[in-house]
Amino acid sequence: MDAVTATRMLDDREREVEHRLSRLRDDEASLRHDRADATADDEHDPEGSTLSGEWAQVDALRRGAESERAEILAARERVASGTFGVCEQCGRSIADARLEARPFARRGIACAT
Ligand SMILES: [Zn+2]
Repeated sequence: MDAVTATRMLDDREREVEHRLSRLRDDEASLRHDRADATADDEHDPEGSTLSGEWAQVDALRRGAESERAEILAARERVASGTFGVCEQCGRSIADARLEARPFARRGIACAT
């Protein structure tokens, strides 16, 4: 895969991740708001536990998106150094179809599974 195609895929993916992150930040802000209300109303409100479950879920999604963003940055460095699309375990090319699904993949399917 050439550097131009790789960069375009990483750009698309990064936009998508940024979008996801901003939505998750909105979710966190509204959960924080709801939680403040719930605590003010009644500490023993059963809704409190639902909220903390949602909070944990949003937090996990946010961390996933942040680590994906970090992986995208690392993939850009591999584009710059000419090692993008090369499996870091066996040194063979990673299939284009895999890179299209996961442009930040560091290993081919055979080595990743
Ligand atoms: Zn490999």
